[in-house]
Amino acid sequence: GYRARSAYKLKQLDRELELLPYGATVVDLGAAPGGWMQVAAEEVGSGGRVVGVDLQRIDDIEDVPAAVETVRGDMTEDDTKAEVREVAGGDVDVVVSDMAPNMTGEYNLDQARSVYLAQQALATARDLLTPGGHFAVKVFEGPDFDAFVEDVEESFSFVRVTSPDASRESSSELYVVGKNYVNAPVAAGD
Ligand code: SAM
Repeated sequence: GYRARSAYKLKQLDRELELLPYGATVVDLGAAPGGWMQVAAEEVGSGGRVVGVDLQRIDDIEDVPAAVETVRGDMTEDDTKAEVREVAGGDVDVVVSDMAPNMTGEYNLDQARSVYLAQQALATARDLLTPGGHFAVKVFEGPDFDAFVEDVEESFSFVRVTSPDASRESSSELYVVGKNYVNAPVAAGD
């Protein structure tokens, strides 16, 4: 079994959009307790690597074929970003983020924080991904959502917004998936 039900969301994104190629190196942001890491490790297999990052401690992940490492830290801080870059090493093929803010119950605040975390994830993807790499990020629907999707479109040649069945119960949660990372932003009119 998986550590978190959210594991099935990543499984579904992978099934629909082929996010997790065999042998890939995956960076997983907001990874605790480790459900997505378990799924990613299964999919990338023995040739792959998974680096999970979270504010919270992530218990060791055992009995998976891939090499697994964890970093504890805050992805809004440069120190953590630098540590992740170092642990992940060179060629990162996939960046996924399930980061979510601590819920205050005030939707506008929680939603704004969710967009901010998604922007941090996109910046990390732009920093780490090898050309052709993939990205998936959870974002709450609301103000700035469309602008965020436009930002993703600047760096990926294929972008999809999806609400996996496994998250149907909380309809404000969407996943933005970018495939085929293109190094330089695509200039308008080119
Ligand atoms: N995908 C995970 C799984 O399958 O086990 C569940 C992730 S949970 C929905 C969201 C996580 O985002 C929490 O563990 C939280 O600590 C983490 N998080 C929120 N803000 C963060 C930040 N600034 N840096 C790192 N992790 C963060």
